[in-house]
Amino acid sequence: TQEQLLQKGKMAAVGSLVSGLCHELNNPMAAIRMSLDLMVRRKLAPERQRETLEVIERQSQRCVSLVKALREFSSRPAVIREPCEVGAVVGRVIELVGPQLSRRRLSLDARLAAAELPRLHLHGAELETALRHVVTNALEASPEGGTVTLEARPLAREGTQGVEVAVIDHGPGISPDTLPHVIEPFFTTKPPGEGTGLGLSLTHRFIDAHGGTLNIESERGRGTTVRMWLPAAPVLETAASAEGEAPLQ
Ligand code: ADP
Repeated sequence: TQEQLLQKGKMAAVGSLVSGLCHELNNPMAAIRMSLDLMVRRKLAPERQRETLEVIERQSQRCVSLVKALREFSSRPAVIREPCEVGAVVGRVIELVGPQLSRRRLSLDARLAAAELPRLHLHGAELETALRHVVTNALEASPEGGTVTLEARPLAREGTQGVEVAVIDHGPGISPDTLPHVIEPFFTTKPPGEGTGLGLSLTHRFIDAHGGTLNIESERGRGTTVRMWLPAAPVLETAASAEGEAPLQ
């Protein structure tokens, strides 16, 4: 099911983060070990000794910065809960992607029943960023002159009031092999410099922290639909979500 796919994606996300970090740490560690080996086993001239110590200093600094970056990425940011009108956020996102639309003659078909949407309790700026990532992906995937549809409607789930925002594109779609990986941090199929691979993972983390869900349906050659559901009432942390989001120690 979709749920299992996303769970699989989550596990893979941890795996890819760890393997990426291992790779990044391996090089400075190897340099440090080689330098130490030189210092211990060879009688180096004082000048060479200093150079070797400098290598150790630089490379260990690199390890420290890598661990710091990982800690920032894995630590749970404070969850801000304040009243937020989805209609206003959608409006800001539409404004922001304006230039992208005209550059590639794309249209954005916004269908929202703004007045009917329940008010959410989250940080508007964070929702804006999350939605912007999804809309930007849809626009980038669209062929020139294409249309992206953005829908927002009230949707209750298991008795909980909420809002569903759907972003629909008619781009190339995502293959079933790739789909579970798209929410992994650093996973990207875009050329270097164009994609960071962090958009969907941050979006997923934000939605998850608010007790919502992120669903991605995609068909090769037909397009992609990303559905974000967020509950209206502020969600108090559950043991399960706290555990799932625990920082790596
Ligand atoms: P980035 O956009 O920087 O690559 P994301 O985390 O936002 O990072 O997306 C990860 C990958 O998911 C993209 O590189 C792309 O392969 C795939 N993807 C996301 N949205 C779409 C879409 N609407 N259509 C096709 N592929 C998509």
